[in-house]
Amino acid sequence: MIESRALRAALDFLFPAQCAGCNAIGSGLCHACAPLGARAIRVRLRLVPVVAYGCYEGMLRSAILALKDGRRDVTEALGERIAPFVRPGTLLIPVPTTATRRRVRGMDGVALIASKAADISGARVLAALQQHAGDAQRGRTRNERLAARGRFRCDAGAIAGKRITFVDDVCTTGATLEDCERAVAEAGGTVEGAVVVAATKSSPSWRPAPSEH
Ligand SMILES: [Zn+2]
Repeated sequence: MIESRALRAALDFLFPAQCAGCNAIGSGLCHACAPLGARAIRVRLRLVPVVAYGCYEGMLRSAILALKDGRRDVTEALGERIAPFVRPGTLLIPVPTTATRRRVRGMDGVALIASKAADISGARVLAALQQHAGDAQRGRTRNERLAARGRFRCDAGAIAGKRITFVDDVCTTGATLEDCERAVAEAGGTVEGAVVVAATKSSPSWRPAPSEH
């Protein structure tokens, strides 16, 4: 771990932060490509009200694709973009990726975005959800499979009686956020909403709206 941190510092020195949209040096996403203080997009899901920084297209799409390449500079820039939508004192739960993807990318991009947003806005991050890989179902009995239908597991000890807000990169159909909501509710927590970087135009119901936070 220490070795990988030293390696990361060396790489940051050799390859400084660069805008995922236009390649300008300085940050993972420059202010020309993605301004701070943009109007939020609100998405209405059945169970979870979602606030998105922007639409999943153009520079924002490039930035989110850069997360899959393990671009840490981009996670910082995206954390800055969503921070204005996070109230101080909020308990943030990042929607987790699978352990396999985390290994391949060398990071969990959404966890880093949540951490940056929490630092700026005075919120806290609680890593209380885990996502199981799709093949985790193999070898289980039918009843075990039914009991473990959801992809997400929540640490009940950490969450019972608490009000939380999810953080994710993209909201498409909202199915992932609703799966997560179910896991948190079963563990005794209450979901107040979700803050995401981008929503696709196919999201259930989206509309630009002035930020309330
Ligand atoms: Zn740019």
